[in-house]
Amino acid sequence: MQYYSLNNHDHKVSFREAVVSGLAPDKGLYFPVSIPKLEKDFVERLDEYDPLYIARKVISPFIEDEIPRNALQQIIDDTLSFPFPVREVEQGIYSLELYHGPTLAFKDVGAKFMAGCLGYFRKDDNRPVTVLAATSGDTGAAVAHGFYNVPGVRVVILYPSGKVSKVQEQQLTTLGGNVTAIEVEGTFDDCQRLVKTAFNDTSLKVSCLLTSANSINVARWLPQMFYYFMAYRKLKQWHKDIVFSVPSGNFGNICAGMMAAQMGLPIQHFIASTNINDTVPRFMQSGNYDPQPAQPTISNAMDVADPSNFVRILELFAHREKALNVHLSSYSFDDRETLSAIESVYKKSKYLMDPHGAVGYLGLKKYLAKHPQQVGVFLETAHPVKFIDSMPGTVQDDIDYPARLKQALGKEKKSLYMQGDYIMFKNWLTGQSYAV
Ligand SMILES: *Cc1c(COP(=O)(O)O)cnc(C)c1O
Repeated sequence: MQYYSLNNHDHKVSFREAVVSGLAPDKGLYFPVSIPKLEKDFVERLDEYDPLYIARKVISPFIEDEIPRNALQQIIDDTLSFPFPVREVEQGIYSLELYHGPTLAFKDVGAKFMAGCLGYFRKDDNRPVTVLAATSGDTGAAVAHGFYNVPGVRVVILYPSGKVSKVQEQQLTTLGGNVTAIEVEGTFDDCQRLVKTAFNDTSLKVSCLLTSANSINVARWLPQMFYYFMAYRKLKQWHKDIVFSVPSGNFGNICAGMMAAQMGLPIQHFIASTNINDTVPRFMQSGNYDPQPAQPTISNAMDVADPSNFVRILELFAHREKALNVHLSSYSFDDRETLSAIESVYKKSKYLMDPHGAVGYLGLKKYLAKHPQQVGVFLETAHPVKFIDSMPGTVQDDIDYPARLKQALGKEKKSLYMQGDYIMFKNWLTGQSYAV
């Protein structure tokens, strides 16, 4: 499969090139030149197949022979190595739990799959590659765990000192091995600036092979299709009209679901649920794409003003707004509504949602109120313990700590403390002296 740049459809590259470079040289996102269609018979008999086989069948046409079948199956098996339960929360409302992976959030899937692909493409190369990522929390943890111990890869994660949660910091700083966590004196934007400067530094590229594990990488985006297939496979025996509500920030997760639908997975409708960072809901109403500065919320992994993957959704519908409106609705909710949903669902159903999942739940409820014949799934994108400080006080005592988290919380933190100074950072990266 070839991929073109969304900024220039004539610039085409292989899957390998798209994964290794992340973005096109013109800064466009990569998009597959065609959308593979699954056979009808395969989709109808989905429940007869093993999920790991389904995953390979779904992703293969995007990779073709660039990764041989056995190696690809191994990457998939490593990626989907934990459960993806679907739980009925209320009648006709299901939660797809995506938080049973190593860092308790859905980003584990994309990060692990990308690490597998990059590891495969780099395996015969002696030059180590450095994966650089700035993080405000979830991304860095998933990337660090995904790339942990991948041969030939060094991982450098920059995070703002004192500005990530305790859980997130422990997940970032206790791995060791090929993962270095750099604690930057400053904000997330300072971390981001260091990373961007490094990517634009041509003299650095001579001594250091750099790549990014950003969420726009096709190898992080496409494997997110897998769990839509898994959930549909479980529910299809009982239900025909299934819709999905996805708590959205950068819109990569929902875009993967919409790609799955275009391949032939019979999903009736998508709901993009956001917090008050509502650029897309406003766009769906007015047709105007008008990002406003991001505002902090309790579902902070979705505090995104200008979602990078939304252009991919537009591309899926060839920029025809009418067609998009048939398949997508979008609603936004504030923190007060989110907290109240967490409390009332817990009271009624004893089901504990995290603030991101709760936004997804609210979007689903709103849509189903107008479409009562359908059933819906909302994506539970993180374990409530990850956001324990933002959870309502009334439920905090009932949040459990998974064993793998307890383990990380008990380990010793190891990080490098740095000022947000590019020359110091560069010297450290290239192995020259580094003074704290
Ligand atoms: C990253 C993240 C999201 C947003 O996903 P996108 O693919 O960026 O839309 C939602 N919930 C959680 C917990 C996240 O970490």
